[in-house]
Amino acid sequence: MSAGLEVRVEGLVHIYRLFDTEVVALRGVDLHIAAGETVTLFGPSGSGKSTLLAALSGLVRPSAGTVRIGDAEIGRLSERELLRLRFGRVATLLQGAGRNLLPYATPAQNVAFAQRGGGRRRRAESAADLLAGLDLDHLADAPLGTLSGGEQQRVAIAAAVAGGPGLLLADEPTSQLDASGRDAVIATLQRVNERFGTTVVAVTHDHEAVSYTHLTLPTN
Ligand code: ADP
Ligand code: MG
Repeated sequence: MSAGLEVRVEGLVHIYRLFDTEVVALRGVDLHIAAGETVTLFGPSGSGKSTLLAALSGLVRPSAGTVRIGDAEIGRLSERELLRLRFGRVATLLQGAGRNLLPYATPAQNVAFAQRGGGRRRRAESAADLLAGLDLDHLADAPLGTLSGGEQQRVAIAAAVAGGPGLLLADEPTSQLDASGRDAVIATLQRVNERFGTTVVAVTHDHEAVSYTHLTLPTN
C-alpha cells in the first residue's frame, strides 16, 4: 500500500470566471499537511472548501500560487499526468455518499469495480479483505439501498481507497448523518489513515464533525 503524500499549498488563489463576472473562491491559501497526517478543514458554506479540494486533486488549476502533492506541482503537470495522479495517487470522496457508489451494485462489487478502474496494477488485497480491514465485511453483499447513510459513506470511503491512494480528499463526509453515523465515518477515515498511511484531508462546515480538527479556512 502506498505511503501518504505530503500537501504543500502556497498563496493559492482560485478565481471562477463567468462571462464578465469573477468569483474569487480562494484568496491566498497557505497550507502544509505532512505525509500521513489526518486533517479536517472547517469553513462555512461558500468559503471555498470544495474548490480547495478540486485544486488539491488537480481538477481545477490555480489562478495563482502553487499546489504540491508529494513531488508533483499540480500547475506544471500535463493533462495526462494529472489524470494519472487522480486515478492513482489522489482519491476524492465527493459530497454525498451516493455520488461515489454504483447504486445497483453491492459494497463488494463497488469496491471491486473501483479496484479495477483505479489501478492498472493488480491489487494484492481482495475487495473482501479491504472491506474487512475497514470493519465493513458484514455489509459486503447487502443491497446498497438497505444501508444507512453512514454505512454507505463508509463503503464509499472503502471504494475511494481501493486504488491505494496516498491522499484521500473527503468533501463534507459527515453531512446529513446522525451522531452515530458521523462517528463511524470519522472512525473509518482514521482507520484508513492508520492502516494504509494515507494522508486524509476532510472539509466540513459541521461543528460536530471537527473533533480532530486543527485548521480553519479563512472566510472570504
Ligand atoms: P464551499 O465548498 O466551502 O461551500 P465552494 O468552493 O463550493 O465553497 O465555493 C466557493 C465560492 O466559489 C462560492 O462563492 C461559490 O459560489 C463559488 N463557486 C463555486 N463553484 C463555482 C463555479 N463552478 N463557478 C462559479 N463560482 C463558483
Ligand atoms: Mg462545498
